[in-house]
Amino acid sequence: MKKTDIQDLVRDNILDLKPYRSARDDFDTGILLDANENSLGAPFDDDMNLNRYPMPYQEELRDKIAAFRGVNRENVFVGVGSDEAIDLLFRIFCRPGKDRVIINPPTYGMYKVSANINDIAVDEVLLTESFQLQPERILETVKPETKIIFICSPNNPTGNSLDVNDVIKVMEGFNGIVVVDEAYIDFSRQGSLVNNLKDFENLVVLQTMSKSFGLAGIRLGKALASPEIISYMMKVKAPYNVNKLTSDTAAKAFLNLSGITKNIQSILKERERVIGKLVTFSQVEKVYPTDANFVMFRIPDALNVYKKIADEGVVIRYRGNEPYCENCLRLTIGTEVENDRFFSALEKVLGKK
Ligand SMILES: *Cc1c(COP(=O)(O)O)cnc(C)c1O
Repeated sequence: MKKTDIQDLVRDNILDLKPYRSARDDFDTGILLDANENSLGAPFDDDMNLNRYPMPYQEELRDKIAAFRGVNRENVFVGVGSDEAIDLLFRIFCRPGKDRVIINPPTYGMYKVSANINDIAVDEVLLTESFQLQPERILETVKPETKIIFICSPNNPTGNSLDVNDVIKVMEGFNGIVVVDEAYIDFSRQGSLVNNLKDFENLVVLQTMSKSFGLAGIRLGKALASPEIISYMMKVKAPYNVNKLTSDTAAKAFLNLSGITKNIQSILKERERVIGKLVTFSQVEKVYPTDANFVMFRIPDALNVYKKIADEGVVIRYRGNEPYCENCLRLTIGTEVENDRFFSALEKVLGKK
């Protein structure tokens, strides 16, 4: 077990913070005339008591997530997408204008945006050309002010999983917070780092209902971490961050886990078919290995190809501005019909093979 003095990493203003106490912290049953809600109700038929504020701590939903991921409720934070969790981690650990974080490009753009919003300096340690971590370089880059290292596995936009041994080297060698973003973990051949939470107090695993659960519209992200880190996230979050419509819908998803598994299997099957077809195009120079629900490939004049495919009504993503991703496009695996539409568009744009 690697010990980390979490309290020592937390900003003084957060340690001293007296969190907002909502009316529901004290009583949540009886005649509720404590929160200035509208007792007459919503302006339409409503069986969810939407006129009342939601539960601040989302215990039931956190229990479901905990059971699903094999941890305890105290290990689970839920928020408005992973993006809320990322922002909260900045606000808990990083002093604006003073502290720093490390990211590993090419990677998910939100870490840098969130750092910029919070006025936190970003040090970049590129992945290798085969998109793996450089743990020694990362640890050499750590400064006294470095508070968080962001790692994304499977990585977006490249699609590959990172070598777990490299991630462990970083967690072992760094006395700060290591965030491992597992947005695509349910599509991966590799297991979740959640199983390492008991060995690393400084690990925060981010997951989301936006991808494998098919619920991007409800904005439900989760952080899985030591009870101490989770307690700081609960302290700093907005009191009613997760709304009733979202938690109710998220709970419903757990009633149909077999449906989710089935969809994941279908996407994985389609992923193989799409890769098999992509490599038959002579213009496609490389199809990168993927552990996610998308695939990155390299093609000459990619920006132009991307635009022309969009003209055909199929929208994919140009990633050619990222390091080592010159002329790369990222394609989300859709339904069989959607993927075939993409291939028709690609054939048309390339003037057949
Ligand atoms: C899609 C994605 C997320 C999801 O973010 P939400 O705010 O939960 O929708 C997080 N991280 C990465 C790397 C992603 O690609």
